[in-house]
Amino acid sequence: MKIAVLALQGGVSEHINHLKSLGCEAVEVRKAEELDGLDGLILPGGESTTVGKLLKETGILEKLRKKILNGFPVWGTCAGMILLAKKIENDESRHLQTMDITVRRNAYGGQINSFLVEQKIEQICSEPIPLVFIRAPYITKVESNVQIICKINNNIVAARQGNMLATSFHPELTNNLEMHKYFLNMCRENFSDLYELS
Ligand code: GLN
Repeated sequence: MKIAVLALQGGVSEHINHLKSLGCEAVEVRKAEELDGLDGLILPGGESTTVGKLLKETGILEKLRKKILNGFPVWGTCAGMILLAKKIENDESRHLQTMDITVRRNAYGGQINSFLVEQKIEQICSEPIPLVFIRAPYITKVESNVQIICKINNNIVAARQGNMLATSFHPELTNNLEMHKYFLNMCRENFSDLYELS
């Protein structure tokens, strides 16, 4: 399988390494043309405002948005979650707007409020896994078509809507591969029946 990581800004190499250790061909995407021929894409952590701006400038935004709405599997971690959200509670900017979630940026406060917890996520793993939060957003509202995957202190930190996965935390910064395995299984599914192909 060929899986890409959006490489405009942020934590790219850690995702690439995880994908490689699971036997994928892992590539970086910086141009709209590079979105062709992929089985899935990870939108990594970083600064969503910066990445959102670069998405527009490179022409990736419109092409990727269309692809996602046609069933292309994507996973947004942290800033990536913000890029996917239809609504951002405390920010005027809007990016891909494909996922029916409302998010709150920097929901836990600043860098100083970054933290690590261990949690078992029913759908993902049978043992607790480490979850790293860095200036993380969380989801404050989901529409009924969105499945909640994980909550911490009653805040939603992982959710899935068909071909879209969003996590507040950074599995690429731990040695655990379970979330990446889960996403690769998503990439093996076919979502074309979810959407009217255009
Ligand atoms: N605070 C960042 C934002 O709002 C996200 C932080 C991260 O991706 N680690 O875009």
